[in-house]
Amino acid sequence: MAQILFALALALGTALFVGRVRFIRRNILLGRDLDLSDNPAARWKQMALVAMGQSKMVTRPLAGFMHILIYLGFVLINIEVLEILVDGLAGTHRVLSFLGPVYNLAIGFFEWLALGVLLACVVFLVRRLAGAVPRLNMAELKGWPQKDALIILLVEIVLMSALLLMNASDKTLQERGHEHYISEAGALHLECPDCTPVEAAGYLGSFPISQYLQPLVSDLSEVALVGLERGAWWFHFLGILAFLNYVPYSKHWHIIMAFPNTYYTPLKPKGDFGNMASVTTEIQLMMDPSATPPEGYEAPTGFGAKDVYDLSWKNLMDAYTCTECGRCSSVCPANLTGKKLSPRKVMMDTRDRLEEVGHGLDAAKKAGQAIEGRLDDGKSLHDRITAEELWACTTCNACAEACPVNINPVDIIVQMRQYKVMEESAAPSELNNMFTNMENNGAPWQFNQMAKADWTKA
Ligand code: SF4
Ligand code: SF4
Repeated sequence: MAQILFALALALGTALFVGRVRFIRRNILLGRDLDLSDNPAARWKQMALVAMGQSKMVTRPLAGFMHILIYLGFVLINIEVLEILVDGLAGTHRVLSFLGPVYNLAIGFFEWLALGVLLACVVFLVRRLAGAVPRLNMAELKGWPQKDALIILLVEIVLMSALLLMNASDKTLQERGHEHYISEAGALHLECPDCTPVEAAGYLGSFPISQYLQPLVSDLSEVALVGLERGAWWFHFLGILAFLNYVPYSKHWHIIMAFPNTYYTPLKPKGDFGNMASVTTEIQLMMDPSATPPEGYEAPTGFGAKDVYDLSWKNLMDAYTCTECGRCSSVCPANLTGKKLSPRKVMMDTRDRLEEVGHGLDAAKKAGQAIEGRLDDGKSLHDRITAEELWACTTCNACAEACPVNINPVDIIVQMRQYKVMEESAAPSELNNMFTNMENNGAPWQFNQMAKADWTKA
């Protein structure tokens, strides 16, 4: 019965997770095409350094160290999930214990990691609740984003506590020579046939942290201990499934997205804006009437980004990768000087609008409407990101430089500005003067063309 329940829970949790991943993938692919397949070797290196090595996190050493601890704990402790899966489906207990000393070492290592993760989460939780870090108290984090951060920290604390409590109960049962907890552990019989159950317990796992929790459970009867151990085991398994399905809805989705996002980060220098390909081609065709359009060329139907469809798929992947850490906003000169712009909010707004479009498409599909091209819900990204925010950006790229997962908010800002200027002629008056000067004088200043070289006479 337990195995059937386990298999059903696993199948349901996996199906829900896959459904959400497909939704996110479809949304990202709503973006404009962009070829980022060049130089795979440099891309793998970039991913290894930034996502796996967390090279940009350590610029703030203490927070960086604790983040790496949580990340390592998340990755390595989840190796134990493999054992949980086999045990749950096969009805065994600690099936990998046949590995003997290696298993022993691994359990000890996981316990140290679990303790580290637990302490780091407590520090992060206290830091958030105490409001000690300005970037974690900005306006865009009020409401759900703040709750999301707290929920994950609490869940991690509870999961790690359950893991340690499970091991404490397990070790106590081993020491009492409980049949299931000794015989299933196996290693005793392979490595130490003459051991007593108590010696076997010592051999099977030193449980370096959970042994100190044993006094909490040592007075319990065997039945209660087995209940506690099984309860913690099921809680751990169901908690992981719940976590798996919560993460893609939360900022913690970056645990996964950081890898593809850093792989596909453009390799060109951050300050290299380049020309708009659509404008360049149009002008080349105008200047040279004999030129033939590139194969498959379609005249642009608009310029810049009005909505998420106009951004590249990489911009949309950026939006789903944002950890809402605010490192970008904390170095943004516009934000620091009291302007309305926060690059973190730009990313959060882009993701929220993309989610809205995705749900709109799904609702239309359910209602039997065939959507050709874009969802027409009368809204756009500009409803969320105002002109005041867009024009406050100095395009300094400090945000992109600071981002620990290589997100580039400036790229979105610039494309939205291009829409404002080229589609709505809605540039600030200072820029309009400059555009007029460029058009009339061939320079941004209000000098006659003929006076352009006068400075050389001075
Ligand atoms: S590029 Fe713009 S958004 Fe980014 S830090 Fe500079 S001013 Fe802020
Ligand atoms: S864009 Fe990068 S730096 Fe800014 S909040 Fe998101 S993850 Fe953090």
